[in-house]
Amino acid sequence: MGIAGQIAIEDRSPSIPATMLAAVYRGINDVRLETVVVPAIGAGELLLRVHTCGVCGTDLKKIASGSHSAPRIFGHETSGVVAAVGAGVKKFEPGDRVVVFHHIPCRECYYCRHNTFAQCPTYKKVGCTAGFEPSGGGFSEYVRVMDWIVEQGTVKIPEGVSFEQACFVEPVNTCMKGMDALHLERGETVLVIGQGPIGIILSVLARKAGATVITSDLYPERLRIAKSLGFEHTIDASQHDAVRIVRGRTEGRGADAVILAVASNGLIRPAMDATRPGGRVLLFAQTQRGEVVVDPAAICVDEKALIGSYSASVDLQEASVRFVMNREMDLERLISHRFPLQQCAQGLELASHPQPASMKVVIQPGSTWKREAWEGIPQ
Ligand SMILES: [Zn+2]
Ligand SMILES: [Zn+2]
Repeated sequence: MGIAGQIAIEDRSPSIPATMLAAVYRGINDVRLETVVVPAIGAGELLLRVHTCGVCGTDLKKIASGSHSAPRIFGHETSGVVAAVGAGVKKFEPGDRVVVFHHIPCRECYYCRHNTFAQCPTYKKVGCTAGFEPSGGGFSEYVRVMDWIVEQGTVKIPEGVSFEQACFVEPVNTCMKGMDALHLERGETVLVIGQGPIGIILSVLARKAGATVITSDLYPERLRIAKSLGFEHTIDASQHDAVRIVRGRTEGRGADAVILAVASNGLIRPAMDATRPGGRVLLFAQTQRGEVVVDPAAICVDEKALIGSYSASVDLQEASVRFVMNREMDLERLISHRFPLQQCAQGLELASHPQPASMKVVIQPGSTWKREAWEGIPQ
């Protein structure tokens, strides 16, 4: 997009300010609240005023590891209100409540033709930015949504559905993609290790697929939340040996599938031990490159499959939107902490050091908006 195609901020709307607050990543574990220019938009693009943006484990990993150059503005589980639209945008108008995906694949390249969208070069381009190198931008007041995302990755939020519920569309999509990779069959037994927000969503989806779900976590508080969602078979992994318990419940075999929803690589071995011969282990949180010890005979002789899943699938976009917008699960309940943008650094700090009572952490520039606006009810 050339500069000439961009709309000057003054031409857009008097209600859109020239500058805004944003949480800018400046280096390893260094995120600062700064005043930056509200991004300009071009033809086919839109400007989103951010209400809520979920903090994702991948944001935390990037901030802690320095894997990406600075400066950047992260945050990609973003819901809000359309503040302005560029020339030619027909599907949206200012005032629309929407949630945006930040990646959309080309659907044409080698990887897309083989349904591995997350490896598509176009998919890897980030289509939402609040300035600097595009990185999502949700930890700010306004986000520029680029044309291909406006076309294929922007979804209206129905009346009665809150911004908080809506911001789960992308994480739910990633969980659905993981479930697809697992090919669960009705009646199978699944162990879900980790009952943070993602582990709980995965557990709900596994149950929906007809599996018997066993959940485990080190924090009894999290297991209580799992129980309140109807997961009776919980294992307090701080007290008990999950492998032994799972085997005890499956005539000594082990679970048909194990989902590892905790980043710790030390849990890969126990996850494989808890799986029956011929079963599957899904690595869902192992986003850090490194080396681990695995028992090769568990894969060869015992025919246990070690599989992975990362990011979202465009093929599951509709299903994930339906699940979230129809409130098949009360996702707002998973939010334990809401931080105004001014306290973004504290929010990221808490999310990267989860406490027993912390679940999903969201950054909420819209925390001061009227409650009716949250629900999409006309005022
Ligand atoms: Zn994410
Ligand atoms: Zn592609």
